[in-house]
Amino acid sequence: MNWHYHRMTIAYTGALMLFSSNIGKKTVEPAYYIHPFPAHKTVAPFTIYLTFDDGPSAGSEIVNELVEKEALPVNVFLIGRNVCLTQRSRELFRKYRSNPLVEIGNHSFTHAERRYEKYYRRPLSVLADIDRSRDSLQLENGLVRLPGRNIFRVDSLSRDDHGNGSVAADTLAANGYQIFGWDLEWRCHPGKGIGLHTGEEMMELVNSLLSRKKTFHQGRLIILLHDKELLDENFRTELETFISLVKKSDNCRFGHLSDYIRDDQ
Ligand SMILES: [Zn+2]
Repeated sequence: MNWHYHRMTIAYTGALMLFSSNIGKKTVEPAYYIHPFPAHKTVAPFTIYLTFDDGPSAGSEIVNELVEKEALPVNVFLIGRNVCLTQRSRELFRKYRSNPLVEIGNHSFTHAERRYEKYYRRPLSVLADIDRSRDSLQLENGLVRLPGRNIFRVDSLSRDDHGNGSVAADTLAANGYQIFGWDLEWRCHPGKGIGLHTGEEMMELVNSLLSRKKTFHQGRLIILLHDKELLDENFRTELETFISLVKKSDNCRFGHLSDYIRDDQ
């Protein structure tokens, strides 16, 4: 399994680093020695990624304000056509772009016209649609979220959902894109299997999933949100509660998806 291979690679690299770090030192600790306070423990062991889809939209201004107020790293997955649509959406895009805490990803140009089954039947058209958004927005990081599909293709890690997007995802991965799904969707209204949660309940859920290793990639948890739902004041308050709980926590921190693989555990 790819994941095991990845873990083995990390373990092996770690072992090499342990040996090489000892070279030339007077006291050489045996390889089995475990330091009681390893340096990397200063970093919280779990990373949470807040990802906002379908922008720019009416809620994007609030996302930007929240990010600045909380010094919060987030990822936004933008729809190319939405960016190009109006003067206002282009301005929102520029604000995202000038904010280093906001990492911009590609959510296609057309959002499949919301006809997903038909869209994913033509993988090369999907590639063209993603390329179009990349070129229109001049995106360089290769981060993609597929419209209507919770699929991962990140380095050697891969997961499909129950839809028909796997061939398109493979095509995108072969063309250098990294595709991110999500572990948990948080919406302001319940439905389609998504429950209504307060900020405190979300924190409990997040801790539970991470500690039981129920996320796609161990130690990391991706939350899917939508810009426009921040227009709901109650939802925004709950999100702010959640953010403050994460900040107070010793276990968790927020991160950018570009560090998803590199992030130390
Ligand atoms: Zn979407």
